[in-house]
Formats: sequence, structure tokens, C-alpha cells
Amino acid sequence: MSDNAVVTEARRRRTFAVISHPDAGKSTITEALALHAQVIGEAGAVHGKGGRKGVVSDWMAMEQQRGISITSAVLQFAYRDCVVNLLDTPGHADFSEDTYRVLTAVDCAVMLLDAAKGLEPQTLKLFEVCRHRRIPVITFINKWDRPGMAALELLDEIETRIGVRPTPLTWPVGIAGDFHGVIDLRADHMVHFERTPGGSRAAIEEVVAAPEAAARYGDDYGTAVEEIELLAASDQAHDQKLFLEAVTTPVLFGAAVANFGVRQLLDVLIELGPPPSPTPDVSGEPRPIEAPFSGFVFKMQANMNPAHRDQVAFLRVCSGRFERGMVVTHGPSGRPFTTKYAQAMFGSSRDTIDEAYPGDVIGLVNATNLSIGDALYVDRKVTFPPLPSYAPEHFAAIRTTDTSKAKRFRKGIAQLDAEGVVQVLYSDLRGEQAPVLAAVGPMQFEVAAHRLQQEFSVPVTVDSLPFSMARRTDANGALALRGAPGVETFTRARDGAVLAAFPNRWRLQTVANDHPDVPLEPLLADT
Ligand code: GDP
Repeated sequence: MSDNAVVTEARRRRTFAVISHPDAGKSTITEALALHAQVIGEAGAVHGKGGRKGVVSDWMAMEQQRGISITSAVLQFAYRDCVVNLLDTPGHADFSEDTYRVLTAVDCAVMLLDAAKGLEPQTLKLFEVCRHRRIPVITFINKWDRPGMAALELLDEIETRIGVRPTPLTWPVGIAGDFHGVIDLRADHMVHFERTPGGSRAAIEEVVAAPEAAARYGDDYGTAVEEIELLAASDQAHDQKLFLEAVTTPVLFGAAVANFGVRQLLDVLIELGPPPSPTPDVSGEPRPIEAPFSGFVFKMQANMNPAHRDQVAFLRVCSGRFERGMVVTHGPSGRPFTTKYAQAMFGSSRDTIDEAYPGDVIGLVNATNLSIGDALYVDRKVTFPPLPSYAPEHFAAIRTTDTSKAKRFRKGIAQLDAEGVVQVLYSDLRGEQAPVLAAVGPMQFEVAAHRLQQEFSVPVTVDSLPFSMARRTDANGALALRGAPGVETFTRARDGAVLAAFPNRWRLQTVANDHPDVPLEPLLADT
């Protein structure tokens, strides 16, 4: 295949994730998007909730008991002339470092806000990760069919709390709870929405010209027009360059549950959302899209299928064409890796994938030797920058109750660290048989304990520790903080970073006041 064909395919890709707080409507909008587009496949598992159709992953008994999934799903669909990859960012109890890591594999994010709640904690954390990576963000204000904040108030909140200028592309006619439709600011007409019975099909849309809209919607339309004039006066027009630089965020309004505004979102994603761009390597040199195949592992998943007892590495394609059966090189070991079993794992079965292009995600089974951040490539060696570590919020001491298994215990812990399941911390005081696990979500401790018991046959006990946040310090800082009540310092196995853990923000503040010379830097996604 020619270089040109790879570039053409890459240009058709839109790879994005939804960042939101639980209950803002992520699952609902995912389903609504799928109604508008032709679903090519679902990789991994989309969690099915309360009777809704969903693909429940079956990889772990614990997961089944709880009826939730720990899987990051990839949904691929065709829309207009594009291929859209929607990567799931697990929330609720599934919230973990993986959720953040998914954002290393996307080119764009949709920030989904509940019109009644505005910016919520998990959205802010995920937004910080987008900001760090300079990912362009499109904002969708959801649930406009029921009472909520005023549209201008929501824009103001976005601007003041996250410092990104909102540039609306649609504007609601009718306040939240009394929704008639939106004025499409690019087309300069109104789109009236009507529910389909049951809401199980795309909403009926009617284009209404301005004079007709004024007559039909009276004051509501007049108010919307006045608000739009206010926006025009305050420099809130869309600017593609500023959007791609993540300085501004286009804003759309809708109601995912009734499918209102979802088509507009897809259109904006296709028309304004960026296609994959060259991925910088560890030295900052971008690897061109048309270079031979390369990709990096952003997620590891163990035991997707208990009958197979294997590992799946999720890989984002960065350059070239991936073809199943290709023999690629595993960067860190220099060893060949066969991709005969490369899979897209569509639905609950595992379908093999035959080809993939930049922006796509593939699942590699039997990937026991791969770790988070590893590069795989053909012909020209590439090393991508290591994936960042994020601010842990939960801490637990873990040890084995069977001292004869000390060696195996350490091996298992190292394996979980390499897969990025948990962050592993050590301290001189506790010793190497008593590491501390740190995680973004508490569920990860259960995953770690379960895997140590099942895969390594090491019985363990896990005791949660009274810390809720960490800051990066240095060796001198660790010495200075020795003995400070409620504070403990550790070395992170993954990168040797020295971390200080605190029970809460207030204790951090007093320690910072008492030790002005000790560096206490926030970690990524600290808000
Ligand atoms: P998630 O946790 O972000 O995946 O949220 P869900 O998609 O499960 O939605 C949470 C709740 O909000 C569900 O009861 C949905 O039916 C409801 N919901 C989602 N979108 C809308 C909307 O546009 N309008 C209204 N009224 N409810 C919505």
C-alpha cells in the first residue's frame, strides 16, 4: 500500500473519548451516537446497565458479581466518509489510572456536562489530563430537556474554572427544561427537535428559517437571539486554530436521552475534530503518519476470558498500515512479536482484525511480555515517551501471608506494576516485603489482590492506609518530612519518584507551611 493511501485512511479517522462525571450521560450519548452512525464493531466491552443492551465482559468473576466492567471499550463506527473510534473512559467504580491513560490514545475529547451540574470533580480531573496533553476538547451540554443552569452561566463556569474560552456552535432555544431546538450558528438557522416514540431512533429534525422560528417560539427565540448577540460582542466565535491549540472549546447543546443535538455533535467531530497527527518519539521527533507501522500499548488487560487465561495489550496505531500476521518488533526487548492473533474483540466474541490505520486501536492477545507504554514497530525503530503516572487517591499496604512465597509475591507485584494496574511504592521503613499500593480508584486493590491469588497463587492481605493524596518531593524533602505526623514518604517503583502521602488537603497545607523549603509538587490530574 502506498504512503498516500495510509495518509488518506488516517485523515478519515477521528479518535476520541468522552470525559464526564458519572451520570452525566456518557453511556446514553454513546448509544445515541451509535444510532446515527453505522457501528463497525465494539472492541472490549461496553458496560450494560439496567436492562439496556450492552456487551458485558466476562473476564473476571469479581466483575460479574458486581455487574460492572473493568474494560476500556473501543467502539468503531462509520459516519459520512469517516471512521470514528470512540474509546471508553471507565467511570463509576471502574475509575482508575486506565481511565486517564485512555486519553493518551485519543486525538480529541468530548467534555460532557450535565446542564444542571456544570463542571463536576471527575470531569475536572479528566480535563486536566487533556490540558496536559493539549488535546482539543469539544463541549456537549447534556440534559437540556430538564431544568438546569442558564446557558450563559454554564459558559461562564467553563471560562472561569478551567480557563478555556467557550465558543458555542449551537445555541438553545428555550431554557433547560423547555427545549425547542438549537440555532445552528454556522448555518444561521434553527433546528427544531422532536422526540421519536420511545427515543430509540434518531430524533426528528426540522430546519426552521429565522422569521418562522420567531413566529413559532416568540420570546424564547428572541432571548436566544439576544444571547447570541451578547456572545458575538464578547469574542466567542469559533476559531479552528485556537480550538486545535486547546485555547477554546466549541460548545453544543442537546439531550442525549432524546437524541437531541447528537447529530450536530457527530458533524462537528468530523468537520472540526483533528485526524491523527504524527506522534512525537522520546526525543520529540515526530514519526510521520506514513512511516512504517508503529504503535504503543496504552492499556493491558489480563484474563479477558478465563478459559484463555491470557493478556491483551491495547495498542494505538501511530503510523503505517497494520496487517494481521505482520511480525513486528517489540521495542524494549528488540524481540519479534507475531500478530497472527491480533483482534478487535468485537462484541463478546473475539473477531480477528485484518488491518488498521493510524488512530485505530487493536488488541494483541498473548501479550504477556508487553507493558504499558511499549512501542511495537516495523522496520524503523521508535521509542515513544513513557506514559505519565497520575495522582493516586487511594493507598493500601499489601503483604503475603505465606512467607515461603516471598519471591513470587515480589514477581507478581512487579508484573502488576508493569501492567499499570497499581502504582507500587516502597519505603525503607516498611521494607521490600511490604510495599504500598497506590491507585486512582480503590477497585484496583481488589483487582491486584485477586490476580496475585489467582495467577501467582500468593495469598495476600490488603489494608487500606489513611492517605488520600500525594505530592512529588525529593530525597531531601523525604528526610525533612520524616516523623511528620500523618505523613509518609515513598519511592515509586515505576520511575523512582519520591512521593509524600497526606491524609487530606489541610494536612498538606500545614506541612507545606511548616516546611517551606520542601518541594511538594502536584501530580498529574490533581485538581
Ligand atoms: P453515565 O454514568 O455518564 O454513563 O450516565 P448514563 O448515560 O447512564 O445516564 C445517567 C442517567 O441520566 C440515566 O438515567 C439517563 O437516562 C439520564 N440521562 C442521560 N442523558 C439524559 C438527557 O439528555 N436528559 C435526561 N433527562 N436524562 C438523561
